[in-house]
Amino acid sequence: MTTNKKNAELREQLIAAVIKKRAALARAHQIVVTLLEPQIEEAAFIDMLAEIGPENYADVVEERHINKLCGYPLCAVAVEKVTTKKYQICGIKNKVYDLTERKKFCSGQCFKASEYIKSQIPTSPLWLRDKEQRPNFKLFPIKNDATSL
Ligand SMILES: [Zn+2]
Repeated sequence: MTTNKKNAELREQLIAAVIKKRAALARAHQIVVTLLEPQIEEAAFIDMLAEIGPENYADVVEERHINKLCGYPLCAVAVEKVTTKKYQICGIKNKVYDLTERKKFCSGQCFKASEYIKSQIPTSPLWLRDKEQRPNFKLFPIKNDATSL
């Protein structure tokens, strides 16, 4: 192979890699926007998790919180009254809890469910995900208390 031809080929590969990276980042951004909707289907949610990173997920929680929605994308509860307290002291456990993250959710259950999902989101580069095995995401089992209300 001539040097010129080799260089051209390398250049082409590099351009293809850049295009792929940009497309993956754009897709992740689009997913963040989609997950700001109040009603997200479970199956669609799980599909989308494979194409975002933990920082994208954190953006989703933050943006939903700003829009006065529960931070957990599968929950459509509006969180109107947000505590202004930053810490809560538990006398029984003699512990101080930071509420910064917790107050972005309508309930302790949604907070746990969200943390559970977040811990499963891969940290690998988004544009290399197609070469990886897709994780088997598991949703936090939400107890249905509707009957006891
Ligand atoms: Zn919720």
